[in-house]
Amino acid sequence: MNERSDKRPAVLVIGGGPAGLMAATQLADVAAVTVIDQKNAVGRKFLVAGDGGFNLTHSEEDEAFLSRYDSEYVRHAVGVFPQSSVRKWLASLGIETYVGSSGKVFPAEGIKPIQVLNSWLDHLKEAGVEFKLKTRLIDYTDHNVVLSNPAGVITLSYDYMVFAMGGASWPKTGSDGKWMRVLQDESIELIPFQASNSGVQLANAELIRRHEGGVIKNVRVKTLSGWSAGDIIVTHYGIEGKPVYAANSLVRAGEKLCIDLKPQMDEVALEEKLRTAKNVREAFKKLRIPDLIYDWLKSEVPKETFTDPAALAGVLKGFCPAITGFRPLEEVISTVGGVALSGIDPDGKLLNEERIWCCGEMLDWDAPTGGYLLQACFSTGYVAGNAIRRRILNGEL
Ligand SMILES: Cc1cc2nc3c(=O)[nH]c(=O)nc-3n(C[C@H](O)[C@H](O)[C@H](O)COP(=O)(O)OP(=O)(O)OC[C@H]3O[C@@H](n4cnc5c(N)ncnc54)[C@H](O)[C@@H]3O)c2cc1C
Repeated sequence: MNERSDKRPAVLVIGGGPAGLMAATQLADVAAVTVIDQKNAVGRKFLVAGDGGFNLTHSEEDEAFLSRYDSEYVRHAVGVFPQSSVRKWLASLGIETYVGSSGKVFPAEGIKPIQVLNSWLDHLKEAGVEFKLKTRLIDYTDHNVVLSNPAGVITLSYDYMVFAMGGASWPKTGSDGKWMRVLQDESIELIPFQASNSGVQLANAELIRRHEGGVIKNVRVKTLSGWSAGDIIVTHYGIEGKPVYAANSLVRAGEKLCIDLKPQMDEVALEEKLRTAKNVREAFKKLRIPDLIYDWLKSEVPKETFTDPAALAGVLKGFCPAITGFRPLEEVISTVGGVALSGIDPDGKLLNEERIWCCGEMLDWDAPTGGYLLQACFSTGYVAGNAIRRRILNGEL
């Protein structure tokens, strides 16, 4: 058992991703905070997010921004600590940001993701936050955690604890979802992980063979709440792109993925064009429908449909290709599943625990990529940290 020399309340943050680090940030001046992570460095997935465009948040207006989230829990947290607060906080670390043409918020030109992380970590270390790396949570009780590290198994006591152990994509970053085994004995409702912000695998190998790398521009894909417009990219396994990601929740609900391949025209006008052309190929040329779509439909739609103008117009407005599922969790941008939201209060406190809060992607919420995921992690870490902070300042232990 550890001997504590610091008489301030002890807060353990399990998981050093953006959610856990943000909770630690809120507590550093009122508690003895230790961030525990199973990897040899914190923020691994945060850096992976920085490998492509590093969308730290998005500049969208509040109402539209909040509509990106599927749960009141995240909307509440983002309302408390919105995108403008994230940008102000980053500026306080010396990280200026700018809004790209897409509305996404990036670190100012020349600032690398590792600099963002290091500025944050420097701030935390200066504030006295300690880090225990290569240390994994394997069990916990009301006041103690059992941790495994290269030296063996240790027990630490805590007054408050924050779980921020992430989802289950990109396990090499430490987000392996194995913490589910630790929590499953604690009567906490856990929901199996599923892919989110994932491409979908197509049954049609012929399309992939002929058109891998091709882009289908300006289509829209059916989602749970309407349609999502954008471009679709043909990959080595199927299709991906913003509208495909947006349809993930519909596919997870067991429905077909359906694409409107000609959103600019209605079915009647399309049928007319198809009927008056010499053949389908000529009609597609006049309609500026690319060969890729011609090949895709020809190889997937029954011949009778392909040659019937009315039926083909219907397919162009709602083409539902045969899919075989999502990409493996190891490859996807995020996951849904984890701790059920029914098991926490609005600030993330576990209802069946008095001293434990959860935050970040380990909870069962969903959002599109493009800054919304990190924003949710910052915001939920912020509200969890502040809920504990309030208790500490009120002298509640
Ligand atoms: C390729 C890719 C690109 C992305 N791009 C973007 C983007 O541009 N914009 C955006 O908003 N989001 C993006 N994301 C998503 C974003 O990175 C994640 O949503 C975010 O990192 C989740 O933060 P978190 O703190 O909840 O968990 P994580 O960042 O996953 O951190 C969890 C931490 O917990 C630790 N841990 C797990 N189990 C234990 C245990 N038992 N004991 C101790 N430690 C443990 C892990 O080692 C890890 O460090 C991207 C993700 C990927 C994979």
